[in-house]
Amino acid sequence: MKRIALLGATGSIGRQALEIVQEHPELELVAAASGSTPIDGLAQLTQVGGDLTELLDRAEPDVVLNAVVGFAGLPATLWALERGVDLAFANKESLVSGGDLAVAAWREGGGRLLPVDSEHSAAFQLLDGRPPETVDSLVLTASGGPFRGHSRADLAEVTSAEALAHPTWSMGPKITVDSATLMNKGLELIEAHFLFGLAYERIEVVVHPTSVVHALVRFRDGASLAHLGYPDMRVPISYALTYPERAETSIEPLDFAAGLILEFRAPDLDAFPCLALARAAGDAGDTAPCVLNAANEVAVAAFLDGELPFLGIPDVVERTLGQVDCPPARDLADLTAIDAEARRIASALTRELVH
Ligand code: NAD
Ligand code: MG
Repeated sequence: MKRIALLGATGSIGRQALEIVQEHPELELVAAASGSTPIDGLAQLTQVGGDLTELLDRAEPDVVLNAVVGFAGLPATLWALERGVDLAFANKESLVSGGDLAVAAWREGGGRLLPVDSEHSAAFQLLDGRPPETVDSLVLTASGGPFRGHSRADLAEVTSAEALAHPTWSMGPKITVDSATLMNKGLELIEAHFLFGLAYERIEVVVHPTSVVHALVRFRDGASLAHLGYPDMRVPISYALTYPERAETSIEPLDFAAGLILEFRAPDLDAFPCLALARAAGDAGDTAPCVLNAANEVAVAAFLDGELPFLGIPDVVERTLGQVDCPPARDLADLTAIDAEARRIASALTRELVH
């Protein structure tokens, strides 16, 4: 029996994870948490809002599936890593914001960090057991989102309804907007840096419209390996929850006879500056990624509320990074203070842009 604690149980990842748990008698849901929607009866222990680490203390899980959205998931990520409890990891914002602390806690705790993000699950499988010196670079694929091919001028008037119509993945609203700005791929670049210990210049992003190839690894001998599958998050969720078993799923195998188009191109950094902002924040290090993430959370919420225009998102993020100091963080309290300060500045900048 594997005792699972599911954080973010009512979300897009959370609901798909419940399907996987129900299909496997050896997976037992011992705890579930959501932000605001009631989840009574879902597991032995449930919690709506509040401190997730208190729930985890009581639940004593073997695996924590962190599918909370945003910085709010960071204490739970650190809880699992510090204790060496296996972490099935979807909440990328926590690794982006607290990467240095999380990696230190992971080393100390010695547990497994099993990526749920599809590109990182793919990369984890491609890199598994390969000597680091043989790896040349990692390539993360991006669908390009609903506005692929749009110029910067085309993006001025787009609405949140248009941004929420993702061509290949069905996901929660925040990550769907992040996919439309390419900030999602920027967050994933930083996530990959911390997960795999790869320098930023060894991680490339390419646009691949059909989302069939999730990641590729180039090796030093000129060979590249790719991970393919239809875009369905139940595959990486199942992989992480049943690791190392790779249990069966009901997902369709790839159909080559029906024709598969594998098209790749470079991202347009002029129309989608969030990707470049994320790379720069990653390169700057310390708490620059935390500030980037906080500003993005504020800006995306304002865009979803219909207050901020789409191009206001990179604008708020860039200006916030220009105004907030990004010193190293010694602990969660430091990070929480920097996150709060970045949110305060980003909110003020958002109000300025709107009025
Ligand atoms: P979602 O908005 O659909 O769900 C978020 C969940 O988090 C909800 O259950 C919500 O109640 C819960 N939550 C929010 N704040 C909380 C808090 N303070 N305490 C406890 N619970 C809280 O989001 P999602 O699309 O499922 O994404 C979840 C995470 O997984 C995000 O970090 C996202 O980037 C990542 N991710 C999602 C997908 C996907 O396909 N949806 C793919 C890759 C990565
Ligand atoms: Mg992803």
